[in-house]
Amino acid sequence: MCGQPIDPTLRTPHPGSMEIDEIIPVSKGGDPFDLANCQLTHRRCNQRKGNHAYTRLHDTAKPATPKPAPKPIPLSRAW
Ligand SMILES: [Zn+2]
Repeated sequence: MCGQPIDPTLRTPHPGSMEIDEIIPVSKGGDPFDLANCQLTHRRCNQRKGNHAYTRLHDTAKPATPKPAPKPIPLSRAW
């Protein structure tokens, strides 16, 4: 992701250890088992990216609109 080599001997809590990154996050409908959707990344790079890649790549024209607040559930009615 950053172009730097990954040392495969580093283990998980290490920020330079390797992780699999889904190019389209699973939470956005990406397939974690599709090799074309996966890339090796440093743990620190993956964490910096978070879940925002899809939004950055495809939704730059319109800012993310927050969901409208749900209407309060009426607990009683006037008879
Ligand atoms: Zn990196």
